Amino acid sequence: MARIVMKFGGTSVADLNRIHNVARHVKREVDAGHEVAVVVSAMSGKTNELVGWVENMPKVAGSNAPFYDAREYDAVVASGEQVTSGLLAIALQSMGINARSWQGWQLPIKTDNAHGAARILDIEGADIIRRMGEGQVAVVAGFQGLGPDNRLATLGRGGSDTSAVAIAAAVKADRCDIYTDVDGVYTTDPRIEPKARRLKKIAFEEMLEMASLGAKVLQVRSVELAMVHKVRTFVRSSFEDPDAPGMGDLLNPPGTLICDEDEIVEQEVVTGIAYAKDEAQISLRRLADRPGVSAAIFGPLAEAHINVDMIVQNISEDGSKTDMTFTVPSGDVNKALKVLSDNKEKIGYDVVQSEAGLVKVSVIGIGMRSHAGVAASAFRALADKGINIKAITTSEIKISILIDGPYAELAVRTLHSAYGLDKS
Ligand code: ASP
Ligand code: MG
Repeated sequence: MARIVMKFGGTSVADLNRIHNVARHVKREVDAGHEVAVVVSAMSGKTNELVGWVENMPKVAGSNAPFYDAREYDAVVASGEQVTSGLLAIALQSMGINARSWQGWQLPIKTDNAHGAARILDIEGADIIRRMGEGQVAVVAGFQGLGPDNRLATLGRGGSDTSAVAIAAAVKADRCDIYTDVDGVYTTDPRIEPKARRLKKIAFEEMLEMASLGAKVLQVRSVELAMVHKVRTFVRSSFEDPDAPGMGDLLNPPGTLICDEDEIVEQEVVTGIAYAKDEAQISLRRLADRPGVSAAIFGPLAEAHINVDMIVQNISEDGSKTDMTFTVPSGDVNKALKVLSDNKEKIGYDVVQSEAGLVKVSVIGIGMRSHAGVAASAFRALADKGINIKAITTSEIKISILIDGPYAELAVRTLHSAYGLDKS
């Protein structure tokens, strides 16, 4: 017998038939004798609709700023999950399963005060642990909690993944199963490379890189939380027949296990290739090479909430002038250029150059830590295809390469095969 947290995303609960199907997945685990807590998202599209209502409230004459109180935003958008938690509890009860819904404030799931993007601080798990022991399934509304101001708070878009992992940590679950519309995490995007393979296991650190680089399977924060609390997390599909062979396998259910690297015995050097489209490059030429220059550039950009990614600074030839290149999302490039020109005096550069529509392709693998020559193979493979590299950054477990947008797919496929990822 195990204790399992099962999370179902928006597409998995998109209509009543799918909610019924989700209930069958839950029933399978209950029938096998496991203690089960379920976390649900809103029906797909619902949260967007709710956010739209808040944002499109007609404006008062004379004002053009959209007005809303973040606490009321939370009161509105948290309602999507309330609906699905109740509907799933009803579906389970109709199958003869003892189940009840829980809203974030009822456990409670305590958060901080950052309405709209709150962080979970603490979860009171004792009550549901006791009831799970008595055979009751807890159906918890994801994405929401209770702030210190005693008001509903939501966790930011995609936040029900984080709810699920946090609840799994709080109830000391053996496993957290994230059911979604894909059947696992792949070596790269299968829409670009049909030979992409589903990974059996991926380490937390690798998944963090994959998630933040565009493999949008899980909210990044949920992976961080899973890593900190060592929550073994499975990504699996809710669209498979709940009673197909192997679906209830306790140790090896179909899907991808995100786990501690110690659990991955045969670590490949490279685990996956991720990419992020719509990057823009900004270069400042002939910057003064003195203390405080980087702070003068990136401080104002951070204040303007511009997310800077790759940063490359050259060592100057004579200790007086240097060049600095960094990337931002293409959509932010004009805003960034404005910030730089507003601060031109303080920063002290000669010219600024920029280019949008670039792509960052990343090679990810924990095995890189202990292998030489991993980067060299990427550069060779890209050179053989005539792909020009604009900038390179590396970390212990990742090599990121900035290239022209039209080469994105070719680069992904080239690197995928260069590291043998298409061969199982
Ligand atoms: N329903 C929320 C959203 O769409 C939370 C979630 O689905 O994870 O962002
Ligand atoms: Mg999601």
